Amino acid sequence: MLIYKFGGASIKSPEGVCNLGKIVSQCTDRLIVVVSAMGKTTNMLEAVNVAYFERNTDEALRILSEAGDYHYDMIDGLTEIGSSAVEKLKSSIKSLIGTVIHFIENNRNHDFDYCYGQIVSLGELLSSTIVNEYVNSAVKTSELVDARTFITTDSLFREAGVYFDKTERKLADVFSFCNNVNCYITQGFIGSNLNGDTTALGREGSDYSAAIIASLTGAGSLTIWKDVPGVLSADPKLFPDAKLLPELSYKDAAELSYYGAQVMHQKTIKPLVNKNIPLYVRSFADIDRPGTDISSKKRLKNIPVIAVKKNQVLISILPKDFSFALEDALIENLLILQRYRLKIHLIQSTPLCISLCVDDGRNTRLAIDELRINGLVQYNDCLELITVRNYTGDLIEQYSGNREKLIVQRDRATVRILLKNVL
Ligand code: ASP
Ligand code: MG
Repeated sequence: MLIYKFGGASIKSPEGVCNLGKIVSQCTDRLIVVVSAMGKTTNMLEAVNVAYFERNTDEALRILSEAGDYHYDMIDGLTEIGSSAVEKLKSSIKSLIGTVIHFIENNRNHDFDYCYGQIVSLGELLSSTIVNEYVNSAVKTSELVDARTFITTDSLFREAGVYFDKTERKLADVFSFCNNVNCYITQGFIGSNLNGDTTALGREGSDYSAAIIASLTGAGSLTIWKDVPGVLSADPKLFPDAKLLPELSYKDAAELSYYGAQVMHQKTIKPLVNKNIPLYVRSFADIDRPGTDISSKKRLKNIPVIAVKKNQVLISILPKDFSFALEDALIENLLILQRYRLKIHLIQSTPLCISLCVDDGRNTRLAIDELRINGLVQYNDCLELITVRNYTGDLIEQYSGNREKLIVQRDRATVRILLKNVL
């Protein structure tokens, strides 16, 4: 049995959905298809949640209706779906959107993350419903499975942790492959907590969902179909010489995604490693190309690989009492950042001062305020963190130009540089 995952960019248009159908039709194995929200739907739904949270209900409903129109247009573009099925599909879409409208108009729980889970999950529910109807009409018999019936999580609604044991128990019943069904369609990114409320696994989390399903079903492989030819040595928009990496080890892939390469969601590799399930990253547009093969036997050759994380903040903390007990101060400060769910991308320390590089997001300024309770805190924002594996001096100079380097860390194979942006 195989798992295919399709990201939002691959199914952003009717042509994309048809291409998904072509790929699915060529698979002769049993198959579970995991889909993200179509195109930029998740960004739109995040904007709905923000507007709702700012009590701007009209704006929230306006963006929601725009997202709805995009999906109705999508259905109209999928001409293989027969007219009676179209009517049924449109009414399913309407009722999914109606549930969110009802939530916006009636919910009394004003926890931002809870509302996020209930609103933003709509994207995956819409895309999987449409994709399932299309596959059934134009490709082969398929069955839609609601991921919330088996992906069981804690209640960190925006970046929920998955309970693997509970998920495994439920999953066995759901994907039974009986009654002539050999293709299931389900959602990435979403799950539900023990109360049955919808949770989300974090941005780009569909890769992680697919890896969990692959691992818990003991699949033969996971293929992530993307709008690039595979894993590239750098972002081609920043580095036009970027090359396709034909092979990577699990370790390389995990490190590169941690450093910010546009490879896959950071948590994707671990569930696969545990069961030694190969991961293929392949071109959605060019389905005959082999893409990148990631498994325990492969290894990154000596090609320089560059990952860039934009929009970073460097926070420097000096304990107020000038204590030299860096270990204690470090742990206390890390706990504060963990509470605000900030991921630390780089740490530099001296006996008196700890500097931590994190993403600039909604919680960053709140965390800085809390860090100020026990320490003198300074920060620089609008920074870029660049990591180069198998580095060469030329490459680093070429990219950094004459920008100021705030921190440089290097070992034999990897250099990491925190750069100021040019204003
Ligand atoms: N739709 C979600 C996002 O855009 C999850 C995913 O694409 O993997 O982040
Ligand atoms: Mg995506």
